[in-house]
Amino acid sequence: MLNLKTCPRCKGDMQADRDVYGNFMRCLQCGHYIHLRDEQAIDHEKLLKAVRKAKDAA
Ligand SMILES: [Zn+2]
Repeated sequence: MLNLKTCPRCKGDMQADRDVYGNFMRCLQCGHYIHLRDEQAIDHEKLLKAVRKAKDAA
């Protein structure tokens, strides 16, 4: 799941994914990494829906 131009550092495209710690996003351009539970600036609900949707499609 790509989130275009959402990187807070470089305005690059971020990819949503999850690991054992939960959901996270990583910037494809600069490598900036956000763990969603630690980042209040992110719209969690919207992202979680997007992540679930991506998982369902996989
Ligand atoms: Zn970036």
